[in-house]
Amino acid sequence: MKRPRVFEKFRDVQAELERSGRAIFRDAKGVESLVIRYPYSITYIHSYAEDSPFFLGLAEGRLMGSRCTKKGCRFVYATPRGHCMVCGGATQWLEMPKVGRVHSWTTCHYGSEAFLKETPYNLALIEFDGAGSLLLVRLKQATEQEIYVGMPVEARFDPEPTFSVTDVWFVPSPSGNAQRPVPP
Ligand SMILES: [Zn+2]
Repeated sequence: MKRPRVFEKFRDVQAELERSGRAIFRDAKGVESLVIRYPYSITYIHSYAEDSPFFLGLAEGRLMGSRCTKKGCRFVYATPRGHCMVCGGATQWLEMPKVGRVHSWTTCHYGSEAFLKETPYNLALIEFDGAGSLLLVRLKQATEQEIYVGMPVEARFDPEPTFSVTDVWFVPSPSGNAQRPVPP
């Protein structure tokens, strides 16, 4: 078999790996390293355990948060949480509203495998009336320039759920467009 081609820049190695699956990287000291590329996949068996109602809820178009059961606390979390971070009390499930507001956001120009097809995409922290914590979720149908703090948004659910975090995302709430604050 032919000896793999030699490159001194790693980006050239990467390009060659795309082409032929093998390359030799020669570093500044002249050391040559054989680099190969091969497919690699894993099938996870993963239990959601106590978080299961959250994912089962998404599949039914419901967003489940949790509320502290302790009297005098009753803190509401916009995410699954087995115990209260404020007082340590047990929590119970609570259906969250499907509408909220953008608390903060970022636009991701790189993502994990599940998100590569939709990159760049927006990740937003959503705040809800009556909840003391935020939900980190994708925000679709809005460009980076269109999003603002306080933007009204509403949940969308995948009609073909895969029981993963990608089963839910938010979009701008059509009724809320006029509420954009005027810059000072
Ligand atoms: Zn509590």
